[in-house]
Formats: sequence, C-alpha cells, structure tokens
Amino acid sequence: MFFSLMKKFFYNIFTVLALFKGLFITLSHMFKKKVTLQYPEEKWKTPSGYRGFPRLVPSDKEGRTYRCVSCKLCEAICPSDAIYIEPNEPDDKSHFLLDLNRSPKVFDIHMGRCIVCGLCEEACPVEAITMSEEHIISQYDQHVRHKEDLLLPQEYAKHLLEKKRKFTFTTKISI
Ligand code: SF4
Ligand code: SF4
Repeated sequence: MFFSLMKKFFYNIFTVLALFKGLFITLSHMFKKKVTLQYPEEKWKTPSGYRGFPRLVPSDKEGRTYRCVSCKLCEAICPSDAIYIEPNEPDDKSHFLLDLNRSPKVFDIHMGRCIVCGLCEEACPVEAITMSEEHIISQYDQHVRHKEDLLLPQEYAKHLLEKKRKFTFTTKISI
C-alpha cells in the first residue's frame, strides 16, 4: 500500500515537472529572434558562395548583347542535357560582337533538367555563363528559358563574377 502511494506520488511529481519543462521551452522561444519569412513578400537572402541557376553575362555596359561566343562547351559538358545552343551564321555581320566571335541565335536552358552543378560555368572559356543566386524558378508556363530571359543586368553579372573568382582560379576578363 505504502509503495503504491509513493509510486503514484512520484509519478505525479514527474508529470508536473515535465509539463513545466515544456512550458519553459515554449516561453523561451517567444523571446528569441524570429526566423519565419513572410514569403513571397520576404525573400531568403542567400549566403555568400551560394550557387543558384545559370544565367548569361552581357558583353556591353547596357546589357543588350551576349558575351557568349557559341563555342558550345557548356552544352557539351552539361550532364543533364539542359542546354541547347544554335550559333548565328558567321557571315551575318549584324550579329558579330568581336572579330571571329559568334553570338548565339538560340541559347536555351531547360530549368527542369538543370541540376545546378555549375559545370557550364566551369567550362566556359570567356565567363559568359555564370551561376546566379537565383533559387526560385517556379513558373506556370516556362520550363525552358531563352537567351532573352537568361541575360543578367550588367552590374549584377559583375557582382556574380567577382564572387565566383573568390572561390575559383580563373582568368580575369574585365566587364
Ligand atoms: S548547372 Fe549543370 S545541369 Fe545546369 S545547365 Fe549548367 S551544366 Fe547543365
Ligand atoms: S556560354 Fe560559354 S561555354 Fe557556353 S557556348 Fe557560350 S562561350 Fe561557349
């Protein structure tokens, strides 16, 4: 009888202690800094070194032309076959950026296939494609992005290239 009463007593004590412990944890979180973001109004700020989806780098200050010379190295190295490039004809002078360089007529990236591996950026000899900080690509109707959608603003491209150079050894090309 005595042991039974003691057992019940301690059981009740531990239950109450566990209850207070739970309440204390809840209360302590009320005064901590909130981490919940009100998405989509608030966006997550990516950490330095974060690698988002690939985008194209402009060749001029206004950000209208492409640095890409259609060598197709990125297309060849892409492990998920996400890149498709068609170069402009070499005799079409209106599309020449530099002597002997050809800008792309078609430059598509299939966002659903891209695995954000960064190999296209590594393979590019002229830093014409770079991994952006972009991580939100959900859209209703556009899995394939065309060159017009991929071209970055010049200042942002410059920022991304400078960031990339911090983490890799590359030949510097002024932009
Ligand atoms: S990041 Fe990787 S998967 Fe995506 S386009 Fe570049 S090479 Fe292809
Ligand atoms: S993005 Fe770079 S690697 Fe890809 S086709 Fe253009 S120049 Fe070549």
